[in-house]
Amino acid sequence: MIKAIVTDIEGTTSSIRFVHDVLFPYSARHLEQFLRDRQARPDVAEQLAAVAETAGLESSDIAGIHDQLQNWIASDTKATPLKALQGMIWQEGYEKGAFKGHVYADAAEAIQRWASRGIRLFVYSSGSVAAQRLIFGYSEAGDLTPCFEGYFDTRIGHKKEPASYQTIQQTIGLSAEEILFLSDVPAELEAAHEACLGVMQLVRGEPVESQDKFPIVADFSEISV
Ligand SMILES: [Mg+2]
Repeated sequence: MIKAIVTDIEGTTSSIRFVHDVLFPYSARHLEQFLRDRQARPDVAEQLAAVAETAGLESSDIAGIHDQLQNWIASDTKATPLKALQGMIWQEGYEKGAFKGHVYADAAEAIQRWASRGIRLFVYSSGSVAAQRLIFGYSEAGDLTPCFEGYFDTRIGHKKEPASYQTIQQTIGLSAEEILFLSDVPAELEAAHEACLGVMQLVRGEPVESQDKFPIVADFSEISV
């Protein structure tokens, strides 16, 4: 019997396009102004210093730091200070209503229904925990964060490694068979399956690879637990 569900975000609860067409362009567009306006804020200064150290720059060299960050964006380098700064810029965007977190209607409905039935809900995404809280906190369906008990990102391990799912299972404190993992990526399902979790693939009609080893659903309304 399934007592907990761990879900991926991109391609599972939410459109892959939202991240690539809305979030990333927004942070790239606002990055330079954000660095200039917020450089004295301690959490921003900490990330500026981290970028400066990596790139061999002075932490007061905002233009140089901005160039380095734009290089990381262009080369899709998932550097920790870049992710942290993007998260801060997105938070401002969500707070001023520049966009809402995209969550498919079927996912929002199921998340609320499962939570009300006492099924424990968790997120496991390669986006930072801060970014995960924002997408559900400012979603088109309202604040969904009360439905979730916990959030995991790649700090606990990578999504294609079984050990990550063992850590999640131990943190949740249920047996592996009582936990269902939802994702659109077969290699993630394989890793979770190796850790003995139940798995299901979301294939939402976006161009993603499919498999015939695990159950496939088109949306959350087809998931019965
Ligand atoms: Mg995904």
